[in-house]
Amino acid sequence: MIKKKCSSCGTWNDGSSSTCSACDELLDLRKKEYERLKKLGKLPIEAKEHILFEIKPEYPVWRKTVLYIIRPVYWLFVIVSGFFLWLAAWVSA
Ligand SMILES: [Zn+2]
Repeated sequence: MIKKKCSSCGTWNDGSSSTCSACDELLDLRKKEYERLKKLGKLPIEAKEHILFEIKPEYPVWRKTVLYIIRPVYWLFVIVSGFFLWLAAWVSA
């Protein structure tokens, strides 16, 4: 049977439990980090571009078409502007 050691008080807990039986500390470190960031309000903000350019199957055809056209243009813009930023940094150096 898998046992988990509490990172806070050192008590060994059942592997299936998510919190320490002695001190209620979260045993899953990833979950703990997530909770910590959530408390601080620093949860990673999902990239808005992905939501913006997400093509969902339920979208009407016109919207899908528009997204299919916009997406490469957007990425091209990102790449070109990135290149110019690099160029500007390189020139000024
Ligand atoms: Zn504990």
